[in-house]
Amino acid sequence: MNFEKAEKLAQEAGFDSVAYLDCETIELLEEVRGMCAMNTCGMYGKNQACPPSCGTLEECRKRIGQFHWGILIQTVGEIEDSFDFEGMQQAEKLHKKQFLALADKLRSFCPDLLPLGSGCCTVCKSCVGPDAPCRFPQKRMSSLEAYGILVSDLCSKNHLKYHYGPEHIAYTALFLLG
Ligand code: SF4
Repeated sequence: MNFEKAEKLAQEAGFDSVAYLDCETIELLEEVRGMCAMNTCGMYGKNQACPPSCGTLEECRKRIGQFHWGILIQTVGEIEDSFDFEGMQQAEKLHKKQFLALADKLRSFCPDLLPLGSGCCTVCKSCVGPDAPCRFPQKRMSSLEAYGILVSDLCSKNHLKYHYGPEHIAYTALFLLG
């Protein structure tokens, strides 16, 4: 697998933007992990792929340390304004669908890839929760925030646009591949 192949698969999956990701640019911040602990999404401590079940930042750093490169992918949706929650949900739903489909494709080339998406893991209709073993550890997907990654900063360091203006919303994810 090389970047050109991964880029082509991501474009075929429907993503609007794809960029090469240099793992040297990934920084894990306690402040970002701290935002998870504020539990504004309501999933803290409820999903195996969310904190604290996804491990300490040091454990996340070790997992990331096995890779040198990956791809950043984005779904960019149109919204009427910053109160268009329906438009945001539609774009997010599409992003997650494309993300799961691309994960399956990429795994046939890179079985040990590391996916980091947006929001909690939705591989199962309902997660086993924080205390039982994950049903599909090979498919589990944590969010970028769960790993302490500031998405805007990561995009900027890898030459990928993050803000697309008031009438657009971008959802970002990554796959570490090699
Ligand atoms: S794969 Fe299933 S059990 Fe494991 S974290 Fe995801 S939703 Fe939960």
